[in-house]
Amino acid sequence: MPSIGDTRRLDPHEVKESLQHAHPNVLRAVTYLMTGNPELLVMRTIEVERRGGAFIEQTLSESDAQRVRELAFELLTSPDLDQRPESAMALDFDQDRIRDAVGFLLGTRPREAEFRLAIRELGLEEACGVSTRARWSTDVDPSGWRVLVVGAGFSGIGMAVRLQELGIPYLVVDKQPRIGGTWERNQFPEARVDTTSYVYQFSFVEKYPWKEHYASQEEVRQYLEYVASSYGVTPHIRLETELVEGRFNAETSMWELVLRDKTGAEWKETANFVVSGSGLFSTPKIPAFPGLEEFEGPIVHSAQWDPGFDPTGKRVAIAGNGSTGVQILPWLANKADHVTVFQRTPQWISPLEKYKEKVSEQIQWLHDNVPFYWKWSCFNARLIRGSLGDAQEYDRAWQAAGGLVSRRNDGLRENLKAYIATKLADHPDLREACTPDYAPLARRLVVDNGWYDAIVKPNVTLIPRGVAALGRNSVIAADGTAYECDALVLATGFEVEKYTLPAKYYGPDGRTLEDVWAKDGPRAYAGVEVPGFPNFFIMYGPNGQPRGGSYVAALELWIDFAAGLIVQTIESGHRRCEVTVEAFDKYNALMDIEMERLIWEGEAPKDRNYYVNSFGRQNVNMPWRLHDYAQILWKSEDTHVFA
Ligand code: NAP
Repeated sequence: MPSIGDTRRLDPHEVKESLQHAHPNVLRAVTYLMTGNPELLVMRTIEVERRGGAFIEQTLSESDAQRVRELAFELLTSPDLDQRPESAMALDFDQDRIRDAVGFLLGTRPREAEFRLAIRELGLEEACGVSTRARWSTDVDPSGWRVLVVGAGFSGIGMAVRLQELGIPYLVVDKQPRIGGTWERNQFPEARVDTTSYVYQFSFVEKYPWKEHYASQEEVRQYLEYVASSYGVTPHIRLETELVEGRFNAETSMWELVLRDKTGAEWKETANFVVSGSGLFSTPKIPAFPGLEEFEGPIVHSAQWDPGFDPTGKRVAIAGNGSTGVQILPWLANKADHVTVFQRTPQWISPLEKYKEKVSEQIQWLHDNVPFYWKWSCFNARLIRGSLGDAQEYDRAWQAAGGLVSRRNDGLRENLKAYIATKLADHPDLREACTPDYAPLARRLVVDNGWYDAIVKPNVTLIPRGVAALGRNSVIAADGTAYECDALVLATGFEVEKYTLPAKYYGPDGRTLEDVWAKDGPRAYAGVEVPGFPNFFIMYGPNGQPRGGSYVAALELWIDFAAGLIVQTIESGHRRCEVTVEAFDKYNALMDIEMERLIWEGEAPKDRNYYVNSFGRQNVNMPWRLHDYAQILWKSEDTHVFA
């Protein structure tokens, strides 16, 4: 990958051609950053709806876009083009200019919290004289300390990279045979991300040459292997090894750990800190259908995919039409003799621009050659994704005037209905059966991977009911009707509520996390820590998922938060760090209040929404926008005790 700072002239033809493919508003921001040209400041952004109104994107009129391309062309082909690395150039920018450029992408002047997160993600903290990264402030030797990281997915690898940088010894364990976490676990056909690859990536791995805008499962898995090996983490990973239990010893302030390898052999180790990155989507949920044992054909869960499973010539049933089931069905319908789709609840399913599209040479060229373009276009993609969060809030005035949720959410519902009507124009019965009666975004919006086209195929039958039981060679629907089949595919999701599974953790008083969470399900301070469990951090913990779905951006915040507390413990000469009960209670009380403004608990059927736990409480998403959440993490003085 060429890096900015290569002293070379750009070919004007290539520049002109590539700029046609640039996002006009991102190009405007980076050109303004480098030139401060006031002409760019006065252009007006135009708000456009994407994905039926789920996302909002700020762009420019065609005439402004053309002018931006001209100015960018002049800059990039100028003999005076700054050839220094971006990091050096950035130190010359003044804060007001950065603030204005961030405002271009937001469509409005950033609030302080938005600006603070923006400069972190854009790598401009140093230029603004701040730092939110975990780092040493004294000259201590951490070599006698040890961290156990559970899981070699995004969370575990990301945490390991930071520990490696800080020089803190660590071991990563993962029960699977390869690095990848959920991307190793979920090898079902057609699995791929539904968040653009440019958001679903670490910010510190610059200009990774993604092949597709929405990477396939294997591409993401290989990316994680690449990160682990290029940051020196791979030798510290022990695969096919699981943490069975951890007990915190109050005398020694150490976690006493029991580990197990694939042969079943167990042994003991100790660590000062444990970071659980065991993942939300790792333990398959297999409904306890009566007759499960009697069913004679293969039963394949999406997260335990059997690569040898061949549906050719078979009558196959599939349960589940969430993100996973919708990805699998078109493949199944192409191969199987007949497919019976058991749809217990219709989902909101919509197409996604650039899904399955390759990244063009021109886009790659822009990333590699236009200073700051990669960072700002990734940030822009994160903002667009995050704009979904606004449509998850109730607008009480809108409701009082007869609306259902809010202008945005109701508009999205109408657009999604129109999409269903178009796809199923010749199938009024299916149209009715497939149209949800709850608000979109109360559950995960599912990407249409050709699902509607598949259900109208002659070899596919949609049964608008759930699976109640299995016979020897049949699936019995909720109304008692038996449907003959030779194989069953379960796309029935994950044991989301069981954070930290399969390991069991015991605090110094002998209580487990499950004991603490018995009242109304898992809770944590900022989704990361639980009082009574010192030196313990959860990545992607309770209510940790950002509303717009930019999990990796949140993960990088958790990593710095946890690593910062580890550093603080070591530097302060203590051995034990723990969040206070007061901080935990205050955070959770605030969270419960915030939750009332949001649609998850009230809109979709509670027992059919993995966001909502068995106590009826939304337990997956955070109620705050990511920038507001980041402020909570960064202002966490007086929230911890060190001993
Ligand atoms: P899910 O969203 O929890 O969906 C589970 C599905 O199983 C639902 O359709 C559910 O029906 C159905 N089901 C459960 N019991 C059933 C029964 N007895 N009969 C019939 N249907 C039954 O799980 P998922 O689809 O695996 O997705 C989970 C999450 O993983 C996603 O939301 C996403 O965050 C992630 N994921 C992401 C991607 C991606 O990035 N592209 C792909 C796959 C998964 P009800 O609706 O009635 O409950």
